[in-house]
Amino acid sequence: MHELPVVQSLLEITLEHAARHHARRVVALNLVIGQLSSIVDDCVQFYWDILARDTMAQGARLHFRRVPARFRCRDCGADFALDESRLLCPGCGGFHLQLLQGDEFRLESIDIEEETTSSLQAMAKTESRFQKNL
Ligand SMILES: [Zn+2]
Repeated sequence: MHELPVVQSLLEITLEHAARHHARRVVALNLVIGQLSSIVDDCVQFYWDILARDTMAQGARLHFRRVPARFRCRDCGADFALDESRLLCPGCGGFHLQLLQGDEFRLESIDIEEETTSSLQAMAKTESRFQKNL
């Protein structure tokens, strides 16, 4: 259940961001989960529902976007997507591989409803990044 501290950080960042932009409430969070990330979206949702209760972020929807794992071969330089049946370079058969993406869990953007209007506002983007072992 290592999602708990991750969700705590997520909520902190979200509330900070919401306060800075004078949000009335947080509508949605857009999250990215790499194929190799150990983060489980249902667990994130579970903790979120508990932790965000009675905050400005209560009821915010969590959108998860999955990104595939990609590797680069250190021997021949080929870039390729993960083939779970074998972890070898499809170009040269090498196994000196560098992970390019796929183990991340990050917050891509936050959708907020601003104080000054009654309708949903253009959404502020945040650059906040998460390490998966937060
Ligand atoms: Zn190769």
